[in-house]
Amino acid sequence: DALPKDPIDENYTRQVGNVAFSRVEPVKFPKARLLHVSNFANDLGFDEAFINSKEFQEIFTGQKIPSEAQPYAMAYAGHQFGHWAGQLGDGRAINLFEANSENKNWTYQLKGAGPTPYSRRGDGFAVLRSSIREHLCSEAMHHLGIATTRSLSLSLTGEKILRDMLYDGNPEFEPGAIVCRVAESFVRFGNFQHFAAQGENESLKKLTDHIILHHYPKIAESPNKYMEFFSAVCDRTLKMIIDWQRVGFVHGVMNTDNMSILGLTIDYGPYGWLEPYELDWTPNTTDRNGRYTFGQQPEIALWNLLQLANALYPLIEDSKPLEARLMQYKTDYFNSYHTMMSDKLGLFNEKNQDQKLIADLESTLQLHECDMTLFFRELSKIDQDSSVQDCWNTLQIAFYNYDQLQETHRDQLENWFQTYLDRLKVESVGYDGDDLTFAKARTQKMNATNPKYVLRNYIAQLVITEAEKENYELLNEVYAMLKNPYDEQPEYEKWYQKRPEWARSKVGCSQ
Ligand code: AMP
Ligand code: MG
Ligand code: MG
Repeated sequence: DALPKDPIDENYTRQVGNVAFSRVEPVKFPKARLLHVSNFANDLGFDEAFINSKEFQEIFTGQKIPSEAQPYAMAYAGHQFGHWAGQLGDGRAINLFEANSENKNWTYQLKGAGPTPYSRRGDGFAVLRSSIREHLCSEAMHHLGIATTRSLSLSLTGEKILRDMLYDGNPEFEPGAIVCRVAESFVRFGNFQHFAAQGENESLKKLTDHIILHHYPKIAESPNKYMEFFSAVCDRTLKMIIDWQRVGFVHGVMNTDNMSILGLTIDYGPYGWLEPYELDWTPNTTDRNGRYTFGQQPEIALWNLLQLANALYPLIEDSKPLEARLMQYKTDYFNSYHTMMSDKLGLFNEKNQDQKLIADLESTLQLHECDMTLFFRELSKIDQDSSVQDCWNTLQIAFYNYDQLQETHRDQLENWFQTYLDRLKVESVGYDGDDLTFAKARTQKMNATNPKYVLRNYIAQLVITEAEKENYELLNEVYAMLKNPYDEQPEYEKWYQKRPEWARSKVGCSQ
């Protein structure tokens, strides 16, 4: 675990046997500077004076290691795109230190601060483009109420790094950047797989006991704790996936090394937000088989949980309860998804026909290019007294090709509107809320479920283009907008809009 003299030494990056982590230090960039600090800094207990200090800047750009800290990179393994990839690890993430605040113990991690023994073919650095996307999206997810790793700060390293070769064969250099990520733990399914694959059952047990003690303390004393632990991870993972499906977030690389053991959204790479509602959409241009499309996410999470079950098997030594628990995920998913979709539609009571109502909406929306965020948000303006024509009038702004909708598709959608309006009538009669009228209660529920402002891919792109010109106003504006995704914010109304035509093509995802 000795620190290498030269981190770029060719023997530094390697397969590292029998370890959970390696000591590393961030590269010291003399010209590094902070670009943006999120409000999470205040929640963590930092005051303005410290946030504005030289010390804060030095610590969170990796130039200064706090005296008691012992930075390290973790070893993990994982399945990438369904194939066993063997040892991976924090290739460009360095855990700086842990600190308490809000009665929680937070791990602070720098992403993009240089190579580690796990960097494999990578350089350990990150470009500004991907760092802006991670910084903005982790905070956006938090404000959407979705479990996620957080981002404390975004910095420039002050140096350029090489990413792509241009078509003319010339190298393209891009600004390097560092994000300081914060989470209660960055441990992934892959950390468990790492030990299991090497038959290191003692280490596997130590890691599991550690995670249970610190993050699932309620079950620490249970005689059946490993099974209960697995069950709790299933629950948290399910909750995260339901939230992703609710807001149209597509992770893009749901490899087992990108699955948090705390059910946090982790590793913001080629992620994207659904614009037209399409189950088979993915932002990841390298995912040729569509493994990680929007509609696949629930199934893939289950597949990943199966891999975690395999890894935990040596501690449980009985496949039956593990299998039963995975089966339960399916039932739980079915129920939670139904409840979530009913919330999106503003329904309070369960009716037999709702399952069909939801399924029909999904298949109907897919016939058109219909913007998911706009459709559900506008839907709250419809009520039980609306007509089918009212539905069209209100919802037409969600359609990318409203004027060219095919007649048969129009009919199908009108049928759905009619069924939905009928359903709302039944609902309003059966509504027995105390204080609010049905219409008010329904709007409230829908607007708390269906965000108005999400980090559309083109918005992130605009922020990046500006930032690459050293203009950070838009970064600040978009960050501010994303803090209140469910609120009406008239000053940001211009971001509540369909994706413009120029942004139609997919953006690549090299990082
Ligand atoms: P990802 O697909 O982002 O989950 O990355 C897969 C693995 O590659 C992880 O172990 C990362 O740490 C590593 N990795 C990704 N980008 C880099 C990079 N620029 N330098 C070093 N390692 C990297
Ligand atoms: Mg990763
Ligand atoms: Mg990544």
